[in-house]
Amino acid sequence: MSIEVRNITKHFGAFRALDDVSVTVPTGTLVALLGPSGSGKTTLLRIIAGLERPDGGCGGSILFHDQDVAGTHVRKRGVGFVFQHYALFRHMTVFENVAFGLRVRPRRLRPSRAEIARRVGDLLELVQLDSQAHRYPSQLSGGQRQRVALARALAVEPRVLLLDEPFGALDAKVRKELRSWLRRLHDELHVTSVFVTHDQDEALEVADRVVVMNHGRIEQIGTPDEVFHHPASEFVMRFLGDVNAFHGRVDRGTVQFSSLELPFPQDRRQIAGDARVFIRPYDVTIDTKTNGMPALEARVIRVHSAGPLVRVELLTAADQRLVSEISQERFATMNLRPDSTVYVRPRHIRVFAGGGQSALASD
Ligand code: ADP
Ligand code: MG
Repeated sequence: MSIEVRNITKHFGAFRALDDVSVTVPTGTLVALLGPSGSGKTTLLRIIAGLERPDGGCGGSILFHDQDVAGTHVRKRGVGFVFQHYALFRHMTVFENVAFGLRVRPRRLRPSRAEIARRVGDLLELVQLDSQAHRYPSQLSGGQRQRVALARALAVEPRVLLLDEPFGALDAKVRKELRSWLRRLHDELHVTSVFVTHDQDEALEVADRVVVMNHGRIEQIGTPDEVFHHPASEFVMRFLGDVNAFHGRVDRGTVQFSSLELPFPQDRRQIAGDARVFIRPYDVTIDTKTNGMPALEARVIRVHSAGPLVRVELLTAADQRLVSEISQERFATMNLRPDSTVYVRPRHIRVFAGGGQSALASD
């Protein structure tokens, strides 16, 4: 079941929560809606579900498998939901919670008792809770409860699964486990899914495609690789990881920022004017000697070495702070300490110039 969102706008009073949004979710894929709080993710998800109506005059539509669902009631859309706080029925066991959606069906659509027991058993096995079937929600951990919520959503065999920050209330370690678990589950079931999150790592790890949202608009849609390595805007660049940002200028085939001047790719030489220059910390190389290459001189402010990479905070002569991430091996050869002088060279920069329209990468 594919989902197509076409030119949807949504106002709450005078406030525009969604602004001409279009997204396609191909059959069997998992798409993440990623953006900061208030960017319109939940509103878009609720419109897909039919819990919220888009603006009447916007001329937009929502299609499920090429069928306009504007007139289709929530219950008829065949969507399964998992929310951040999807309160399970407290007085029901895990088994009863998962069976609920099947048991409340009209008689002619209701599977037999034996069939319900078999389906619930299969689902609990799928979410690895078969040993917990007779427990009550209060006897489960947060992560287990969300797995029950997921099994409950899947029990009615939804055509579309919608997840709104399902792991948002869990602690970091459990979140990480559940996100790889969800990805494996999706690979098994291939239910067309839309997953809302404000956590970029979660979106990049779980999704086939990522929709980056900001202020009710879509900034970029792409695979995790595309949005991470080829951000279409400054917003996406900043939102998907740490950055060092500089004001700069592009002129005659070079980009200048701080005291550096770097060449631009041949084919982008016509661009000139103010620019924003971004460098990811792991693309900032540092050395204790210049080796005759153009480099920025900087002073070490702090070193954080407890991690897979060593994070070095630096201050340039022009009082620009920047962060470099280097390997432990490299760090061990450098003898860095606060106030050491180092020479900084970017390995890879990304430049936004010409009204934010052109993203230019340069090595
Ligand atoms: P997100 O899920 O990305 O955090 P939401 O879609 O929940 O964002 O909200 C987007 C914006 O719309 C927010 O500024 C929010 O305050 C506003 N909004 C959402 N729902 C309503 C509503 N029912 N009434 C008024 N404003 C709303
Ligand atoms: Mg939300």
